[in-house]
Amino acid sequence: MTKDVLEQKVLKNHINGEWSEPKEVSDVINPATGETIVQVPLSTKDDVDQAVKAAKKAQKEWALEPAPMRAEILYEVGRIMKERKEHLSELLTMENGKVLEEARGEVQEGIDMAFYMAGEGRRLFGQTTNAELKDKFAMSVRSPIGVVGLITPWNFPIAIATWKSFPAIVAGNAVIWKPATETPIMANELMKIFIEAGLPEGVVNVVFGRGGDVGDAMVNHKDIRVISFTGSGETGSNIAAECGRQLKKVSLEMGGKNAVVVMDDADLDLAADGIVWSAFGTSGQRCTACSRVIVHEDVKEELEKLVLEKMKELKIGDGLKDDIKVGPIINQAGMDKIKKYIQIGKDEGAKLLAGGNELSGKEYEGGLFFEPTVFTDATIDMRISQEEIFGPVVSLIPVKSFEEAIETNNSVEYGLSSSIFTRDVNQVYKAQRDLDTGIVYVNAGTTGAEIHLPFGGTKGTGNGHRDSGVQALDVYTEWKAVYVDYSGKLQRAQIDVD
Ligand code: NAD
Repeated sequence: MTKDVLEQKVLKNHINGEWSEPKEVSDVINPATGETIVQVPLSTKDDVDQAVKAAKKAQKEWALEPAPMRAEILYEVGRIMKERKEHLSELLTMENGKVLEEARGEVQEGIDMAFYMAGEGRRLFGQTTNAELKDKFAMSVRSPIGVVGLITPWNFPIAIATWKSFPAIVAGNAVIWKPATETPIMANELMKIFIEAGLPEGVVNVVFGRGGDVGDAMVNHKDIRVISFTGSGETGSNIAAECGRQLKKVSLEMGGKNAVVVMDDADLDLAADGIVWSAFGTSGQRCTACSRVIVHEDVKEELEKLVLEKMKELKIGDGLKDDIKVGPIINQAGMDKIKKYIQIGKDEGAKLLAGGNELSGKEYEGGLFFEPTVFTDATIDMRISQEEIFGPVVSLIPVKSFEEAIETNNSVEYGLSSSIFTRDVNQVYKAQRDLDTGIVYVNAGTTGAEIHLPFGGTKGTGNGHRDSGVQALDVYTEWKAVYVDYSGKLQRAQIDVD
C-alpha cells in the first residue's frame, strides 16, 4: 500500500470532488535519505478561487444535514484511519522524518480526534435558559460559519489537520485546506479517506502550494470567513494583521520556548527521562519540545550527569529503522537555523556539554541529522534561552529558588507548555497556577497532549483560541441567541416596565 502512493509520483489538488492535474510541481524530499518521494502541486490563486466556489455551494447542503449524520462520516473516517494506521505511519515517517513509533502516536491522535468529534454530532451543546418576560423561551445555539481555511505545518501533518478539520466538518462548515509543501502525503491520504467515508464533494477541498501563493490567497479571499493557522510566529502574526483588517476570525497556534523546571526535591532520574524525551523526541521539532531546563542549583550537577548518561541511548538515523530514537531535521533551512543558534550559544558564553554538530558519514548519507545538544550555565537573557530553535537543543539555566524558577519560565515571549518536577504538593499547586503557559505538566516532560483537552498557548504562542478539545468548536461556530415569544402579544424586552 505504501508503494501505491509513491507510484503515484505526482499528487493532485482535490477540488469539488475531483482530482486536478497540476501545472507546476515541486519535489517532496524524505529528510532521512534525501530521496524525492513524490511531487506536490504548486497551486495559484485561481485554484483557491475554484475551491472556495465549490466549498460555498457544498456548505449550504452540508449545514442542513443533521449533525448526528455529519458525525457518522467522521466515525467512518476514524474506522478507516484505524484500519490503515501502519500504512499512514510509514508514509508519515517518510515525508516528515519522525521515528515510526512517534508517527504511530500521531496517527492515533487523528483516530482519537475522529471518534471524539463524531461524538460532538450528538452534542454541539448550546444553552437553554430563562427569559426575562412571561411566556417567552430563550436558548443559544452553535451555527456553522461557512467556508473555513486551514493552514497547517509540516511537523504534525495529520494530527493538526484533524484537530482543525474534524470540528469544522461536524459543525457544518466546508473546508479549504492548505497543507505544508514539505508534507503533502498525509493530506493526500486523509482526503482519500474522506472520500471513501462518504463525505459529499466540495465539503473538503485540498489545495497544495506555497504559503505566499495559496495561503495568502486564502487569507485574502472574502468568502473564507475563518482562518485557522498553525506555524511560525512571524507568518501567524502577518496573517492575523491581514485578518484583523478584514474583520475575519483567525485562530493562531505558533511557537514555543518550553521549559522543564526541576526542583531540589525532584526525582532526578524521572526528570532526566522527561527532559531527554521531550527535548530530543521528534528531533526537538515539536511546538511543545523542551528547549530550556530550569534547574535548582543544588541538583544541577547531578541532573546534568543523568541527562548525559541517558542521551547515550539515543540512536540517530532513519526513523523507519527499528532501534532509531531520533530522526532527521526537516530541511536545510531548519538545519541552518539550528547551527546558527549553536554558534550564538557559544558566543553568548553558555557551556556546550554535549553535541553541537551536524552528523555526517556513510550512516547519515543524504539525510539531515543533528546531534542531541545540551548547553549549560545559560542565563535568562541569552538568545538561546529566549528564541525558538526548533531542533534537538536544550539549555540548562540554574536558579536559586521556586520563585526564580517560575519567573524564569515566564520570562519568554511564548507560552505553550511547561513542566515541573517536584515532590512538594504545595509547589505543584502553586506552579500550575503561576506557570504562564497553555499546558502545564507535573512530573512529566513538556510534550504529549491529549485530544479531548484544549491545545494552545498564551502570549506570543497564540491569540486565545484553542485547537482540539470541545473548545475547538468555538473557532468554527458562531453563537446565535434565539428567543421565542409565545405570549401572543407584543412584549417589549429591555424596556424597564413594572
Ligand atoms: P511556517 O509558518 O513556515 O508554515 C506554516 C504553514 O503556513 C505552512 O503551510 C506554510 O506554507 C504556510 N505559510 C507560509 N507563509 C504563508 C503566508 N504568507 N500566508 C499564508 N500561509 C503561509 O511554519 P512551519 O515551519 O511549517 O512550522 C513550524 C512552526 O510551527 C514552529 O514555529 C512551531 O512552533 C509551530 N507549531 C506550533 C504548534 C502549536 O500548536 N502551537 C504546532 C506545531 C507547530
